[in-house]
Amino acid sequence: MSKANGDDRDLSKKFDAGDGVRLKDGTVLPKLGQGTWHMGDQPSRRKEEIRSLRLGVELGMKMIDTAEMYGDGRSESLIGEAIQGIREQVFLVSKVYPHHAGLKHIARSCDNSLKRLGTDSLDFYLLHWRGNVPLGETIEGMERLKEAGKIRRWGVSNLDTRDMKELLSLENGTECAVNQVLYHLGSRGIEFDLLPHAQNNGIPVMAYCPLAQAGTLRDGLLRSEAVRDIADHHGIKPFQLLLAWCIRHARVIAIPKASTEDHVRENAAAALVKLTDADLARLDRAFPPPSRKMPLDIV
Ligand code: NDP
Repeated sequence: MSKANGDDRDLSKKFDAGDGVRLKDGTVLPKLGQGTWHMGDQPSRRKEEIRSLRLGVELGMKMIDTAEMYGDGRSESLIGEAIQGIREQVFLVSKVYPHHAGLKHIARSCDNSLKRLGTDSLDFYLLHWRGNVPLGETIEGMERLKEAGKIRRWGVSNLDTRDMKELLSLENGTECAVNQVLYHLGSRGIEFDLLPHAQNNGIPVMAYCPLAQAGTLRDGLLRSEAVRDIADHHGIKPFQLLLAWCIRHARVIAIPKASTEDHVRENAAAALVKLTDADLARLDRAFPPPSRKMPLDIV
């Protein structure tokens, strides 16, 4: 494994975005990364998608998230092409299907992802969602991959509080280094107990769909007067406000997907936006935080 890909890297350097998020092993990550779901699906957009990802890395969004599921490996192959020559600058995340997360399949799934990505190790390998394989078996598989040098760390995705408590109670469960869950201004359920539980246990949360899939996941989000007024006041676009809002928490990383260079530039700039207490209070009135346990939203 290359040294540049080792622990204790500070990938937030040269990224003027505040403190970044420190992982348990000391690695510091910028608070904005890049999603890739549906990238690689349309051959005609491939070149622009690759340019966008490379620009995102240049602008500091060094974490790239993917999954074996995305386009049946097409997204991983596209990323493999995009990171040629810049692998050491990138923090690479992939996810294993739940039905591949047992001891019988996980090593092969990981090898296939590595091959498509053109690298010898992943920085994060996540269980995509909980399936029928016992969590303890997935942990063992992940730990073996770590020992083999194929992954640096592992984590989970779409696990709600009860699942997280179970995970942490299992042998090596506390090695879990991240939970990737849906989080945006229009879907705040995790703030009730999942986010506090993660924060108390030193587990960063990676927010997926931080732009509510360009607003489509929540009716009225982009038409909201509060969102539009506050964005105007800061001289930013509503999408930038959504990102700034997401990463206002310590230890929350957001991974917007953008496949045009203009969108990438806007998203990267959102890391510099500081929302005031008055802004946050107004957004709370428009999109109230949860007052009771909500089931975890997934897409
Ligand atoms: P996002 O909330 O990131 O929204 C993506 C959409 O927003 C795209 O249509 C994109 O358009 C558009 N967009 C991006 N930036 C801008 C901008 N500045 N202005 C206007 N529109 C913009 O949705 P995703 O579902 O992609 O979620 C992000 C990532 O999270 C995924 O790509 C994936 O990596 C991960 N994910 C993980 C899941 C899990 O189960 N663990 C589930 C879902 C997502 P365009 O592409 O044209 O730029």
